[in-house]
Amino acid sequence: MASELDKSVQYLKSIGQKRAESFSKIGINTVKDLLFYFPSKYLDRSTILNSVKVYDYILDGYAGEVTIIGEVYDKEVKRFGKKTILTIIFKDNTGFFEATWFQAVSYFKDMFKEGDSFAISGKPQINKYHKLQFIHPDFDRLGKSESDDFLHTGKIIPFYRIPGELRKTSFGDFSIRKLIYSVVENYADLITESLPDFIINEQKLISLKETVKNSHFPESNEILEEAKRRLKFEELFYFECLVAIRKKLHDSIEKESVTKLDTDYANDFVKKLPYKLTKDQKKSLNEIKKDLESPKPMNRLLQGDVGSGKTIVSLISILMMCKSGYQCALMAPTEILADQHFRVISRLLDALGLQIELLLGGQLSKKRKAILESIRTGETNIVIGTHALIEGNVEFRNLGLIVIDEQHRFGVLQRGTLIKKGTIPNVLIMTATPIPRTLTMTIYGDLDVSIIKEMPQNRKPIKTALRGESKLPEIYKFVIKMKEEGYQSFIVYPLVEESEKLTLKAAETYYISLKEEYLSGLSIGLVHGRMNWKEKESVMLDFLNKKYDVLVSTTVIEVGIDIPDANIIIINDAHRFGLSQLHQLRGRVGRSGMQGYCILVTEDSLANSGFASNFDLNYLSEREIEKYKTFIRLHSMVQHTSGFKLSEIDLKLRGPGDIFSTQQSGLPNLQYTDVTTDIELIEAAKSHAFKIISEDPSLRRKENSLIKNTLKKNYAQHLVISSIA
Ligand code: ADP
Ligand code: MG
Repeated sequence: MASELDKSVQYLKSIGQKRAESFSKIGINTVKDLLFYFPSKYLDRSTILNSVKVYDYILDGYAGEVTIIGEVYDKEVKRFGKKTILTIIFKDNTGFFEATWFQAVSYFKDMFKEGDSFAISGKPQINKYHKLQFIHPDFDRLGKSESDDFLHTGKIIPFYRIPGELRKTSFGDFSIRKLIYSVVENYADLITESLPDFIINEQKLISLKETVKNSHFPESNEILEEAKRRLKFEELFYFECLVAIRKKLHDSIEKESVTKLDTDYANDFVKKLPYKLTKDQKKSLNEIKKDLESPKPMNRLLQGDVGSGKTIVSLISILMMCKSGYQCALMAPTEILADQHFRVISRLLDALGLQIELLLGGQLSKKRKAILESIRTGETNIVIGTHALIEGNVEFRNLGLIVIDEQHRFGVLQRGTLIKKGTIPNVLIMTATPIPRTLTMTIYGDLDVSIIKEMPQNRKPIKTALRGESKLPEIYKFVIKMKEEGYQSFIVYPLVEESEKLTLKAAETYYISLKEEYLSGLSIGLVHGRMNWKEKESVMLDFLNKKYDVLVSTTVIEVGIDIPDANIIIINDAHRFGLSQLHQLRGRVGRSGMQGYCILVTEDSLANSGFASNFDLNYLSEREIEKYKTFIRLHSMVQHTSGFKLSEIDLKLRGPGDIFSTQQSGLPNLQYTDVTTDIELIEAAKSHAFKIISEDPSLRRKENSLIKNTLKKNYAQHLVISSIA
């Protein structure tokens, strides 16, 4: 049934076709979309100060952020040689304050018209003329009547993200507020409820109608909080329904049961290892063994920091399954890692008479055919490859276990692919990305988790330093000196994306100049993503066998690569990498008993920035975090070696919206929820969803029809693998 809410925004008075197109680009097509286009922030009186107060605060030594509302009183543009400086003088009802711009002066000049009101936010100072002054502050324009209203009635004013295109057509903050105000007035009452009454009552939620109204124009901060809570709860509830449905489906599948694993070989194998398994490795193995022997297919996540020794755990699991008569597959995210796994596993299992194959793209078709055939007949016990392994035409005789290494590179979707194919083996997923408990509960709500917390005993914490580019000659000297002590080094250049031909050239150019100049006495190898895997393999082997002292590489070595004698890693343009990427790269060294070194090289200005290096994230404002993100990332690497700590910082730096892309998992993205803090809501939503799905898996009951319809309407693409018809 088409409703008024599905009407195109084009038909709204102040929009028309042209603006409708701009709106469409940000995903707003219908009136309903506009109703659900919520403000990106609000101004409310409790966070606003007047200029005299702020002046006093600063005299008292306060140096934080403030917002002041003022009217443009005057403008000054001063020229100093080639430089121009713009000063806007504002007036509020207690006095005057100024905002100054040194850049984009002509742009900002036209933004401020005399008599207009603005909310100015930033860290002001008292300048040498004793004026209260903001430099390059944030600002929001307010309509005249709005600012009067606001100051007198304490209204909360919403601000929306407006596409640049629209802003250019003079459709600004004020216009969008007016538009949305009228849409809320005229259409919000048509919104129908999307959560059943029993949940609304139990969770004491406000109705969807009230939620929409108060998300735009809240009557008070309290009701705004209620509206936010309702939005979070709703998205979490449906999210958890999807997780519950998936889990139900998974649990309903019985595998050919392995009642008793043959573990003799595995025990023998463990005894012969040159090291003792850590307590956590043993514990994880026991958990895996239990799963493998249970009649339900295993679905387990093995989480452990870089270098914690996950490979050997998966290998022993594989061994137990092979010796009990099953085939096993190991998938790695890159060819270079698949190839390494193949070599390590072949070496370790050499004496056991198992047939192990490596299946990669680019193999000769004759060879590939033969491998596929031997997998089909069951002759091959272990297959190692990239994700191509479970795509297409690989047919197993009796696949018993799939191990997915570095899962964050794959997502969880593949398991869905497996289920669709009808083969239900045990799945072991490995990741170095520490997943906060809240996330394991939500996204991985249908996974069991084993954690390796302790590192092998022989490890020394890696020493990390941040250096400006001008220090590179000294860094190269360090590489040369350490070579005498048996050290090998990685020198990494930023990623080469398909489109970034230039960067590739850079890595090659650096390679040549290193070879001919800075490191001319050493032997140097080069590896990058554009090589085929055979070429990569031969370089990696040469590096492993110490034919090279230094390996120049792009990020192809980022995950999983294990070269125990390479214990120096130099990461160039470190500011271009994300925190988890830096941590992964650093994890390439310090994998043996030797002292590992990680040198992050960045622009001199960043390395020598005056920003206190012993900062505490908890005391920084959002604006400061935004501004100093890169610096904080780099310094966090220097301060911390724990992947868990770093991922916490990463969550803080990236903010809730960006924390964790659930897309790959086949689940919807969470728009409103902050998975790091909304733990109680997540638990509540989960418990409701799981209870409902467990009692009524296909949602046939009348009281659940609203849930079923909402799922089908809003989450159709996520229901692909389900029993909800
Ligand atoms: P990751 O967990 O990052 O995949 P790996 O499995 O590659 O780590 O292990 C890193 C290194 O530690 C390898 O060289 C491996 O042989 C070694 N290793 C694994 N377990 C132990 C242990 N219990 N004691 C000492 N070294 C170990
Ligand atoms: Mg690994």
